[in-house]
Amino acid sequence: MAQLIDGKKISKEIKDELKEKVAAYKAQGKTAALAVIQVGEDPASSVYVNNKKKACEYIGIESLEFHLPEAITENELLVQIDKLNKDDKVNGILVQLPLPKHIDEEKVIQAISPQKDVDGFHPQSVGALTIGQKGFVSCTPAGIIELLKRSGIEIAGKECVVIGRSNIVGKPMALLLLRENGTVTIAHSKTADLRQVTKRADILVVAVGKPKMIDSSYVKEGAVVIDVGIHRNAENKLCGDVDFDDVVEHVSAITPVPGGVGPMTIAMLMHNCVSTMA
Ligand code: NDP
Repeated sequence: MAQLIDGKKISKEIKDELKEKVAAYKAQGKTAALAVIQVGEDPASSVYVNNKKKACEYIGIESLEFHLPEAITENELLVQIDKLNKDDKVNGILVQLPLPKHIDEEKVIQAISPQKDVDGFHPQSVGALTIGQKGFVSCTPAGIIELLKRSGIEIAGKECVVIGRSNIVGKPMALLLLRENGTVTIAHSKTADLRQVTKRADILVVAVGKPKMIDSSYVKEGAVVIDVGIHRNAENKLCGDVDFDDVVEHVSAITPVPGGVGPMTIAMLMHNCVSTMA
């Protein structure tokens, strides 16, 4: 029987630990505030922003919401970020992505002060991760490392394969697995023989962005499979990048969708915010 890696339970544990830490910091007179900027009316973004607000309330930090109109210019947004960078009351700044097409996301990410970059997307944060220095780490991959550790899954010495090389999931995931002494391979759309690569994996992290693409033919018997994907199928039900029902019989541990990686992203965002209070 495969071990189900319970992201809902583990993320709750993390948030409860953070809640205690925040209370202790508050007793020392320290506070924290997360500024969340949303541009436009994308319904999925509104759900994410609301969940972040709820998580802040739960652990006891202030959330400051900046809901800006879709038509805002890039410059107006950059001015808003600059104000927040200079505001001592604000410890963390997050710009909900995606942004409207007329705004350059890279420029916006780079405008956030690296000291307040709780999403871990700023080039300075990415550079720090690459050379093993302290800095904010992208929340989804950081959450996956916590899932593995708190489920008693050893990373050191294991063959780890990450499918996907995006800046927010695949690349930082590979760097974090390497930091934990895994032997890491990154696969992507130009990988010549994907199955041959993924079948080597003791730990397979799937961030391919294609519903149920990874079935049991890609997976080594007894592997650990982490499914980062989130999609809605034709019946409006959530599913991942992994064909869970086909794979589950063949693995030693697997994350479900929903309730696996998803809840960890916000828990690690909260972790990053609380780290600014130290
Ligand atoms: P991207 O679309 O940015 O990246 C997908 C990656 O998969 C690319 O590197 C691409 O390769 C690779 N790829 C695409 N097709 C294939 C293929 N046929 N074979 C091998 N590799 C392929 O996605 P993200 O990294 O942003 O997200 C991945 C998934 O994770 C999505 O489903 C997303 O919704 C989900 N997600 C979930 C989060 C959570 O909190 N749970 C947070 C963020 C994302 P190439 O580079 O060559 O194009």
